[in-house]
Amino acid sequence: MVVLALATAAYTWVVRIVVDKAQNIGGGDAMSSAKTYAFAILPILIGIPAISGISNYFQRILANKIALNSVAKMQKQMFAASHAADYASFSREPTGNRISKFVSDVSVISAALIRVLSNLIRDLLTVVFTIAAMLWQNWMLSLAMVIFALAIWPIIAISQKMRGSAKDVQEHVGTITSELKESFGGARMIKTYGLEKHEETRLGKSFDERIRRFLKLVSEQARVDPILEVLGGLVIAAIVIFGVYQVSADLATPGSIAAVLTGIMILSPKLRALGTLNNVIQEGLSSLTRIFDVIDETPQVTERTDAVTLENPRGHVVLEDVSFTYADGTQALNGVTIEAKPGEMIALIGESGGGKSTVINLIPRLYDVTQGKISIDGHDIRDLTFDSLRRRLALVSQDVTLFNDTVAANIGLGNLSATHGAIEQAAKAADAYDFIMALPGGFDTVIGEDGDTLSGGQKQRLAIARAILRDAPILLLDEATSALDADSEAKVQGALETLGKGRTQIVIAHRLSTIKRADRIYVLEKGRVVETGTHASLSKKENGVYARLKSLQMEG
Ligand code: ADP
Repeated sequence: MVVLALATAAYTWVVRIVVDKAQNIGGGDAMSSAKTYAFAILPILIGIPAISGISNYFQRILANKIALNSVAKMQKQMFAASHAADYASFSREPTGNRISKFVSDVSVISAALIRVLSNLIRDLLTVVFTIAAMLWQNWMLSLAMVIFALAIWPIIAISQKMRGSAKDVQEHVGTITSELKESFGGARMIKTYGLEKHEETRLGKSFDERIRRFLKLVSEQARVDPILEVLGGLVIAAIVIFGVYQVSADLATPGSIAAVLTGIMILSPKLRALGTLNNVIQEGLSSLTRIFDVIDETPQVTERTDAVTLENPRGHVVLEDVSFTYADGTQALNGVTIEAKPGEMIALIGESGGGKSTVINLIPRLYDVTQGKISIDGHDIRDLTFDSLRRRLALVSQDVTLFNDTVAANIGLGNLSATHGAIEQAAKAADAYDFIMALPGGFDTVIGEDGDTLSGGQKQRLAIARAILRDAPILLLDEATSALDADSEAKVQGALETLGKGRTQIVIAHRLSTIKRADRIYVLEKGRVVETGTHASLSKKENGVYARLKSLQMEG
């Protein structure tokens, strides 16, 4: 950049030499004077552009390399921070908004960085060198440049506005990404309900809003250029008029006037480029703020520095007088006490909203209890390392999480160091082996986003195979509410029984068969345990909540 800037500023000399040499060359015949002249000026006319071109090439590649590397590092940090953040942060910020930070904000920053790296220093140096060259050539004339200083105040005011508008634009990109994600994710419902037009209108409004916000930003950006252009005109006028006076009074050579004018010709676009560079910088800064919001977020649920590792877990889970309130103030649990002894199966039942899922969320510390404590084998879970706590747990929930990867890879997420043989064993134990082998690629079949190519029962069995592979002493189960067909149902139930053998199970139960097998049932209502007992003892209770629930939901 330094070389490039020097080469550019050197043009003022080139013009001076070209003009003054042409004047002094007189005498002799025209042809030989032209020849002498050509020999004198050609080396500079070819040499300077060559130096400038070569340095431009290297500078550009370097600038891109630095910008791309920085941005990739930022993406990695932001991704790590996103997963290190509290689980609650995922419900606070729509996923699409988060995604847009990885895609859109990052590309705004990348563009800004590339421009800053290629232009800021080069243009600033060019401006400094050119001004120095002009002062050297004819300092009095060069003073006309102070007129440019008039632009400083308006540019600062415009910059502040621009940063706000750039933030508006990026935030809206986040909204659009969220809306698109929702809309495409809901394709099945949208088609079945014939909502295509409705969606077109809804998203159409968002796309139009983007234009509105963008134009606001552009109209602010566009104000900088004309200010500098008009000032540039004034500067040139001052130089020409005063220059004519200097030459007439024999105070300067025409070459030096031409040199100063050339300097202005170089300076003017560079100053304007710095003005528009400021636009890009403001946009980049606003995106940077959005990204740093993610990177700098401090999680509330953290591992203690002196956390202990849980050795030889038995799977004794106790919730002692646990209360929990969500960030929005909803009290989901209120003084709940639940115990699951090693190897026991505990069923949580009750009307929706009673707090069953919250119990399941608290055990892996997706959230920390607001009051009371949860312990595993006598250790408060807040005293355990995340790794030793979570390695003791396996979760099978009704909405199975599958990635667009092979069957083997999806099961393998249960234990990342499992061998292919172990994965096949787990599949067999989950009664999934036969259907997997019937897939076109067997265990190497890619199952599509969310496992779209599989049936509900098949997805459940993959999730169970994953949990079997994990081989954890404690199972958290969220039984599917929607009934599968009889055959799938029997297979899933069979797989679940295999999975549950010898493990502590805490199940959000919906099926009477599960509830009957449970060692203890906890009926949750409005965040409290209202009844506890076995199926037999609770069924006998006249007017009991359990008896009522059973008659309402589970008979038949
Ligand atoms: P259940 O699983 O028994 O249906 P939940 O544990 O899901 O009950 O919910 C208990 C209460 O907590 C409900 O009032 C529910 O609206 C509320 N709740 C659940 N999840 C959240 C959340 N992420 N933020 C705020 N409130 C929540």
